[in-house]
Amino acid sequence: MYPFTLERPGDPASARRLGSAPSAQYIAGGTDMMQLLVDEILRPEQLVALDGVLDDRIEVAPDGSLRLGAAAKMSDIAADPDVAVAFPVIAEALLLSASGQLRNMATIGGNLLQRTRCPYFRDPGFHACNKRAPGSGCAAMDGVNRTAAVLGTSDQCIATNASDVAVALVALGAEVHVLGPNGERVVAVDALYRLPSDTPSIETVLDPGELITAVVVPASPAARRSHYLKVRDRESFEFALTSAAVALDIDNGTIRAARVAMGGVGTKPWRMRKVEDALRGRPNGDDTYRNAAQHATEGAVTRAQNEFKPELMKRTVVRALSVVGGRA
Ligand SMILES: Cc1cc2nc3c(=O)[nH]c(=O)nc-3n(C[C@H](O)[C@H](O)[C@H](O)COP(=O)(O)OP(=O)(O)OC[C@H]3O[C@@H](n4cnc5c(N)ncnc54)[C@H](O)[C@@H]3O)c2cc1C
Ligand code: SF4
Repeated sequence: MYPFTLERPGDPASARRLGSAPSAQYIAGGTDMMQLLVDEILRPEQLVALDGVLDDRIEVAPDGSLRLGAAAKMSDIAADPDVAVAFPVIAEALLLSASGQLRNMATIGGNLLQRTRCPYFRDPGFHACNKRAPGSGCAAMDGVNRTAAVLGTSDQCIATNASDVAVALVALGAEVHVLGPNGERVVAVDALYRLPSDTPSIETVLDPGELITAVVVPASPAARRSHYLKVRDRESFEFALTSAAVALDIDNGTIRAARVAMGGVGTKPWRMRKVEDALRGRPNGDDTYRNAAQHATEGAVTRAQNEFKPELMKRTVVRALSVVGGRA
């Protein structure tokens, strides 16, 4: 492994200062970072440890919103009874992620900033990866691209965002609180991720050293009636081919509000606004679901090995809606 120093700051402000140094990286649960270090995908000169530095509380505020300290463990959030009742889509997305052992170590902050699972990014034996080595090309374009994105791609990168819970958070309109040199700012999770465009190596809107301190999820009737459906090559310990986070507010047989986002298909977690528009005000039923799902694939661009994704996307949306709508 490439040599580095390990810093153990005592508080978030010191962590942020250390994390702003050139070639510094944060490590939280380490479940993604350790692999990237061992494989020398990342070669930081300084690692800044976040364990014991950031808040790990899981709290519901008087207005019903959920606040997750960035150090809250995936397993603790998934097991929280308030989360299970008021935000089931979050608990389900977490329980369908990684494995029990990983969830016991991994934090919500680290989950949101985990790196892509594109095989070429993860294997330095391949030269061409614009995300790992800007300007080197993209081996996935004409190579192994079964899991690649179909939405938000560019001619520089087609890698999917791997986080499941980010999809649920985007659907529910969650925000991250970020500590930077000028204090705290708030960023919608939907706006946290950048499209690859010409610079796939820059994945988020965070400046170097900016630290996620918390995730806040607004309460809503739809959030209480929500579900995460993940379709993958095997039933456990696998990333999504497609996934859907769906939340519906249904009143007297009519869909009053709808929130839909998809994973496994976009270069970022993908909010499906046109699907939502096609659900709102319509009768809760199979025809409405099928009509709305047609909009999920607008703008999709497939590659040789992932031509199956658009059809699978529509089916994933319909099935997730059927569960939430009580018609499965
Ligand atoms: C075998 C395997 C299977 C997996 N399957 C899934 C899956 O199905 N679904 C899924 O969603 N995930 C999956 N994961 C990914 C896993 O969920 C992540 O590795 C984990 O959530 C990362 O959290 P961590 O605390 O360990 O982060 P770390 O590995 O410590 O850090 C990850 C990144 O986040 C940065 N970081 C961490 N915390 C902060 C912070 N507070 N502020 C700013 N930057 C920060 C680090 O610098 C690093 O870049 C899998 C991982 C493995 C190894
Ligand atoms: S899709 Fe992105 S991450 Fe994968 S090889 Fe191409 S540039 Fe690298």
